[in-house]
Amino acid sequence: MSDLSCPTCRKPLTQAGYTDRCKQCDGAWVHEDTLVGMLQERTSALVFLPWQPRTQDKERVCAVCAAPMTAVSLADVALDRCAQHGVWFDALELSTLLSDAKLFKSDAVHDDGSDAEPDKKGREGILGALAKLFGG
Ligand SMILES: [Zn+2]
Ligand SMILES: [Zn+2]
Repeated sequence: MSDLSCPTCRKPLTQAGYTDRCKQCDGAWVHEDTLVGMLQERTSALVFLPWQPRTQDKERVCAVCAAPMTAVSLADVALDRCAQHGVWFDALELSTLLSDAKLFKSDAVHDDGSDAEPDKKGREGILGALAKLFGG
């Protein structure tokens, strides 16, 4: 039994693997480090979470400290975040995010902007050569 309570329906959360779940609304509470770990496990790469601010629809409070959370989004998934304690996923949001795990590979995130990374250019060269091989 954990002491966490659902930010949406205030029911106690139940630990399920790496997450704490609400049986009522099927939402999931995940610590940010755990989330990064889950994404890295899926991508076998370092991941970077590009938190975006979003307009808050309804205020939710942290499952741990009950402070109002920040409304954020990650790759168009709308989330609520307590910087100290974790992130709240509504039902299905966590699986959506995990299925898009590759979007958070840290080298993919740095794609826009600098083209000055020599090893990345090298890889693109190989990919380009392969594309020619199969595409031409
Ligand atoms: Zn709930
Ligand atoms: Zn908190």
